[in-house]
Amino acid sequence: MDELYQELILDHYRRPRNRGRLDGADRTAELHNPLCGDEIVVDLKLEGETVAEIRFDGHGCAISQASASMMTERVKGRSVGEARAAIELFRSLMRGEGDIEKAADFIGDLVALGGVRRFPVRIKCATLPWNALALALEGRRGEEAAEP
Ligand code: ZN
Repeated sequence: MDELYQELILDHYRRPRNRGRLDGADRTAELHNPLCGDEIVVDLKLEGETVAEIRFDGHGCAISQASASMMTERVKGRSVGEARAAIELFRSLMRGEGDIEKAADFIGDLVALGGVRRFPVRIKCATLPWNALALALEGRRGEEAAEP
């Protein structure tokens, strides 16, 4: 099972979905994780209460990039409310709350990141894109990004 998950993570890392900047984005937020050197920019296009388009850009470890790729697949075309619910669920799963396997129907490929919970230092890598998405939904840009 762990091997399958490893492959899923590497697949998203090597062939990221929805990667690149979004022309005419309504919202943009950028965060970095100095512990690992990960950088993530999330661009959103909203249509009413729907996340019509989402893309991410940046660089970093396989966990951060795969989590961003999986996240875009999870929230694209969903309502802002669903996106917020997915953010809360993923954060709580990463805090070790709840059974990640049972959440598989709701989070899809993200279930592959369950193993990260055993490595506290990597949890920041996995949650970085989600924290950027949360900021973008709030209309914030991510203050940390302004630091040199
Ligand atoms: Zn990382």
